[in-house]
Amino acid sequence: MTLLCVPLVGRTVEEMQADAAAAAAAGGDLVEIRLDFIEGFRPREHLPRLLRGCPLPALVTYRPNWEGGQYEGDDTARFEALRLAMELGVDYVDIELKVADKFISFMSGNKPEKCQLIVSSHNYEYTPSSEELANLVARIQAVGADIVKVATTAKDIVDVSRMFQVMVHCQVPMIGLVMSERGLMSRVLAPKFGGYLTFGILNATKTSASGQPTVNELLDIYNIRHIGPDTKVLGLIANPVKQSKSPILHNKCLQSVRYNAVYLPLLGDNLASFLETYSSPDFSGFSCSLPFKVDAVQCCDEHDPVAKSIGAINTIIRRPDGKLVGYNTDYIGAISAIEDGIGGPGSKDAAISPLAGRLVVVVGAGGAGKAIAYGAKEKGARVVVANRTYEKAVSLANAVGGQALRLADLETFRPEEGMILANATSLGMYPNVDGTPIPKKALSFYDVVFDAVYAPKVTRLLREAGECGVKVVSGVEMFVRQAMGQFEHFTGGIEAPESLMREIAAKYT
Ligand code: NAP
Repeated sequence: MTLLCVPLVGRTVEEMQADAAAAAAAGGDLVEIRLDFIEGFRPREHLPRLLRGCPLPALVTYRPNWEGGQYEGDDTARFEALRLAMELGVDYVDIELKVADKFISFMSGNKPEKCQLIVSSHNYEYTPSSEELANLVARIQAVGADIVKVATTAKDIVDVSRMFQVMVHCQVPMIGLVMSERGLMSRVLAPKFGGYLTFGILNATKTSASGQPTVNELLDIYNIRHIGPDTKVLGLIANPVKQSKSPILHNKCLQSVRYNAVYLPLLGDNLASFLETYSSPDFSGFSCSLPFKVDAVQCCDEHDPVAKSIGAINTIIRRPDGKLVGYNTDYIGAISAIEDGIGGPGSKDAAISPLAGRLVVVVGAGGAGKAIAYGAKEKGARVVVANRTYEKAVSLANAVGGQALRLADLETFRPEEGMILANATSLGMYPNVDGTPIPKKALSFYDVVFDAVYAPKVTRLLREAGECGVKVVSGVEMFVRQAMGQFEHFTGGIEAPESLMREIAAKYT
């Protein structure tokens, strides 16, 4: 089992004691006491207080500034403090590879049996090649480490794969972590690749290295106690990705049906190299968001035909034969939400879509605009596209056999009654919640108004449409339905837990 270690970075003994209690309450397995963070640290006075009554096993680290820590003194004083920690019964001591030989001679064979020596190496710049990493691990083993620790930095998410490679081949217990947001995967997937421990912080102010998730995220969202060698890896590849609620949504739903998978936020730079690097069958499905939805078409071996016409993919599944298949659940989510919004006879389960023959005005010609325009055409609607950049409206309108409009023309555009409006621009999206694509007075020309924007749930457009007595459909509907489609692709057809998805979407959107 991979241990969950909470770094203690308090400036005082009292703060560290309080944080150790919080770490135990949060579900940590051990604490790392970072002596170098304590202001005016006095070993003989502070160490007994820190270790006596510590509610969890302790790892003691006294990191010098030349290895990224805060300690600025000489090695002898540092070694003496670590020796004292050992004498006081600490469970683990961390020593840097650069001085490990010196420390081991200093101990002259008197390391207590109970205490395990972690020999560590940190690279704050990059992640070396697989060969260099393997050599580094061999050197750490040779010096006499009970546990090997290597921490590097991800410049690209693909760097993490080299750490996984050495971890699975390491003959002694190993902690292999890749720092920075691009390295998050190394921290969450430590149990899958046999990592001895992973670090989880109490909160964002208590970090000891970049990219550390909280204990709560590791236990509650990523469910690391249930991650093992067979756990499938899913995730959202996007840039930026931090703001996404999809990891919460998908992990909670995967857990609710007991599907052995974890869904990660994957901060990517190049989709093709990501998919090529993480090519094992366990990396079995991905959501794609900006800026990768278009690149994803090239990366897939097979495509859902509508997704291919749209030219954008938001879901990639790796089939057991290794082939990548691309889908677009955005259009299914948006179109089915609009169909249900129209309601009445001929609603979505009927053979003929309630969109058939209707005039759908799509505002926006980006990814969501394309998905809605193609989806509406697929259902037999007539499509009009309005967009800020008129040329893009023309190009999308031509592709779906429709008509193009300038945004300003929406104010007077009323060729017939009973039209449907779909906003697929980001106008009105948080934080610019005052934005709207169409003047209020023109909203009464429509039967149904749909807004792809889902944060806030009720946009200015929807509020004004409601005030005009028009039926409204929220972007949250599209969000939930596209996620349900993805979930079913990821799990090979397990029905998505709709009410749970709605509950989570309502809480986080
Ligand atoms: P995108 O590909 O970047 O397209 C953005 C669109 O918005 C373009 O048509 C752009 O016009 C237009 N736009 C941006 N700023 C504008 C402004 N100030 N005035 C007028 N038009 C403006 O983005 P996307 O992926 O299609 O996403 C569009 C919206 O849909 C976002 O708010 C996104 O959150 C939402 N969305 C929701 C879901 C869901 O599940 N509910 C799914 C996907 C997307 P130009 O062509 O002139 O730049």
